[in-house]
Amino acid sequence: MTDRRCSQSSCSRVAAATVTLDYEGSTVAIGPLAPDYAGEGYDLCLTHARRLTAAQGWRVLRHIELWDEP
Ligand SMILES: [Zn+2]
Repeated sequence: MTDRRCSQSSCSRVAAATVTLDYEGSTVAIGPLAPDYAGEGYDLCLTHARRLTAAQGWRVLRHIELWDEP
């Protein structure tokens, strides 16, 4: 499986989503954990993925359901 972790410095949870940034479209995309990504992206755990909010002028696209943790 994966041992990737949330990219938040204070967080050690397992990554559950990959966030990618589209600067041209001013869009933040949250999608399934990418097995291999390049460029502007980082991993987040469920909690931080749910809390993610876009900077002013940016949109957030959620491609996955951010289900509640058990
Ligand atoms: Zn986290």
